[in-house]
Amino acid sequence: MAKIEIKSDKKEKVIELKNVSKYYDDKPAVDNASFSINKGEFVTFLGPSGCGKTTTLRMIAGFEKPTSGKIFMDGKDITDMPPHLRKVNTVFQRYALFPHLNVFNNVAFGLKLKKIPSGQYIVDKNGTKYEKLRKYTKDEIKEKVSKALKMVDFEDYEHRDVNSLSGGQQQRVAIARALVNDPEVLLLDEPLGALDLKMRKDMQIELMEMHKKLGITFVYVTHDQEEALTMSDTIIVMRHGLIQQIASPKVIYDEPANVFVADFIGESNIFSGIMHEDFKVEFLDHVFECVDKGFKKNELIDVVVRPEDIYIIPADNAAAMKHGAVNTCVFKGDHYQITVQVDEFEVVIHETNGVEEGAEIGIFIKPFDIHIMPKARIVNEIETEMIDEQTVNICDGSFECMPTELEAGTPVTVKIPFDKVVVHDDEEDGVIGAEVINSIYKGSYYQCFIRADNYYMFFVDTQDDWLKGDRVGLSVKPEDIQIEARQIEESEDR
Ligand code: ATP
Repeated sequence: MAKIEIKSDKKEKVIELKNVSKYYDDKPAVDNASFSINKGEFVTFLGPSGCGKTTTLRMIAGFEKPTSGKIFMDGKDITDMPPHLRKVNTVFQRYALFPHLNVFNNVAFGLKLKKIPSGQYIVDKNGTKYEKLRKYTKDEIKEKVSKALKMVDFEDYEHRDVNSLSGGQQQRVAIARALVNDPEVLLLDEPLGALDLKMRKDMQIELMEMHKKLGITFVYVTHDQEEALTMSDTIIVMRHGLIQQIASPKVIYDEPANVFVADFIGESNIFSGIMHEDFKVEFLDHVFECVDKGFKKNELIDVVVRPEDIYIIPADNAAAMKHGAVNTCVFKGDHYQITVQVDEFEVVIHETNGVEEGAEIGIFIKPFDIHIMPKARIVNEIETEMIDEQTVNICDGSFECMPTELEAGTPVTVKIPFDKVVVHDDEEDGVIGAEVINSIYKGSYYQCFIRADNYYMFFVDTQDDWLKGDRVGLSVKPEDIQIEARQIEESEDR
């Protein structure tokens, strides 16, 4: 992906990743990530489980080595530098405290082992001069531990047994232990994941205050979008190892880069649409004015409209753009969540006032609140080869197709429309097995992302909401598989 700078070049970069990938068993956990983080920033990696957040963090920490690409800290290549020499420290979700040590000794643990330059030199028999190393003195350790515990407001607890502490208190000890080495960058891997909601909210505020007070760079990992939106200067949204968007929380929320980001960050109405021409988009069977331009004439696009940006107006108001009937109206504490049936589409609306279920209403959307994004893909397209004249290899499965004159081994491109992929509950009923990765409701159907075992991601439009993580079978009717012979590039031939 193209390199994206987080902030202007005037800021000082502390960490930079250039085309970093990490593969496990030929599968990409992180795929060609390039970005930089500035000194003092609070940057959050956000994405669903398994998207590569922790792997990225572990590569910055030095616990994992990239399969390819380079990592820089303060402009210096640290790709091969062992973790203990990097000026970073990690706070893990499961605090990893030593249960047999008290608070003081947990925080002091690393310091007691650490060797530092002594200021004294020795010369070996070849005349080479070396600086001698020494351990920290007891007093130095005491001073550093006290300072670290003070930073997390926990200075009176030095002698407490860590088992007697609450989750939030244990997390403070874990943070103090990471801060005691004066890191330039603090890496936090879902540090609040094990806490209950109330404690989590309190700790979020404390972490933000700590970040402000310490002035060091925080790199944070979470799958909780609210947490990321609340705490960060910059959010890096990841999915399947790929960076989807790097931006401030406001931009991520208001201008999501694609439907995945829109769906993941807050609630959204996502519809398929057609861009008729500049400033004119059709969705919900209506042509709306919008503020976007530069798309091809009649290009298929995705439209995102946040529930709070759709207004309910009286059905007889001339400004009504579409009409519908209220399906449900539920009070959510500070707003009503209203679902409205507009033709075959279900539209979600947030309003401060409730409406009666069954009522006929009009809806109104401002051009500025219609977010248009290019479709990631309009058909499933796979480069593969024929098994024989009537069978084609798709993701290592033998799929029957309409008779062709293409002999075994002919390179082909296979195209399968999203609504022609058949999903089976039972893996055995499909030609290949696959895993449901995600599902996005598009107003009148679900678009599911289903990953074959060779890692090809199928886009599947279905009436059913398939459960994330489920194993399923996939098949396609022979007449729905479009096959085109493919010219092999010279480099591919060698
Ligand atoms: P979570 O929030 O669940 O921790 P994550 O976004 O942090 O998810 P990673 O832990 O970075 O994701 O994992 C990314 C992918 O790499 C996953 O598919 C995971 O199974 C795989 N993976 C991570 N570590 C290893 C490993 N040591 N060996 C093999 N596969 C791994």
